[in-house]
Amino acid sequence: MTETIFDKILAHQIPVQIVFEDADVLAFKDIAPQAKVHVLVIPKKKARNLSELQTWAAQDVGLFFQKVAVVAAHLGLEKTGYRTVLNTGSDGGQSVDYIHAHLLGGEPLSGNFS
Ligand code: AMP
Repeated sequence: MTETIFDKILAHQIPVQIVFEDADVLAFKDIAPQAKVHVLVIPKKKARNLSELQTWAAQDVGLFFQKVAVVAAHLGLEKTGYRTVLNTGSDGGQSVDYIHAHLLGGEPLSGNFS
């Protein structure tokens, strides 16, 4: 799999503002924040995007999403809420081919998909 900028971030070769790290995930501030709080959560086990999670064991998929919730709680976003976004592929606007969940919050967000 081609190395991406997030592989380098995970290897601590590129400096980022880390907000949470454990054995399973790394979470860091987005370089171009779209909200007061904008954090990216990446699993240490690599996948290109959400589609590729079809090849993962369900337990690993669940663990990743559970950790996204853990990071949101760690950031204090639970009380007021937050938005979670996973862009997949070119039509989805994915610009980095390493799966990442955007966590956005810290203020009321405009727009929704309903
Ligand atoms: P996406 O468009 O869903 O693939 O999101 C990729 C995100 O990565 C964008 O929101 C970028 O601002 C962010 N990003 C790219 N490079 C860096 C970096 N070096 N540090 C932090 N965030 C980054």
